[in-house]
Amino acid sequence: MNLDLEEYKNTEEAKYQNTEKILVNKHYYLTKNYVPKNLENISTKYALSGMKLVKKAKESFEQMAKDAEKQDLTIVAMSSYRSYNYQVNLYNRYVKQDGKEKADTYSGRAGHSEHQTGLAIDVYNKETNYTNFEKTDEFKWMQKHAQDYGFILRFPKGKEKETGYQYESWHYRYVGVEIAKYIKNNNISFEEYYATKIKDW
Ligand SMILES: [Zn+2]
Repeated sequence: MNLDLEEYKNTEEAKYQNTEKILVNKHYYLTKNYVPKNLENISTKYALSGMKLVKKAKESFEQMAKDAEKQDLTIVAMSSYRSYNYQVNLYNRYVKQDGKEKADTYSGRAGHSEHQTGLAIDVYNKETNYTNFEKTDEFKWMQKHAQDYGFILRFPKGKEKETGYQYESWHYRYVGVEIAKYIKNNNISFEEYYATKIKDW
């Protein structure tokens, strides 16, 4: 899983680009020019305006939010695809605010943010700040059902060493239903799945 490597050292360009198997983290990066194919706007019923995801992820996310809505739950995307340049500014802002060391625990450096894949979303329920998403019924529902729509909680509690990030109850990654169910059922991180199931295919 590259746990032996220092963060942001010996980095490599991400493999499996434009597929659900792509892994972007502090080891694997995307270049400045990487813009995922088939980006589409998420319906503003389920997202703030201007939010984009890759088509498959978008359709699946909308279906999930729609099914949650039937249970009187509100799942809204507040951040999704982010370009390389957007991430440059965001990361620099966090560094100014909190210092580099702290910023690295919660924000990806440009090229290393999963949001650039167009497969990652941050959600909230419109009432509670996203940092408290964990306390909401929407979170509980997603814990039970997100994998059925191909989404995983990407930075779980207890996996900080593997993912390189602090626990984030609001950040989800589309990996497709099969991989999402496997990861959920085996209680592993995407890094672990990638190292054991994808890397040497
Ligand atoms: Zn995020």
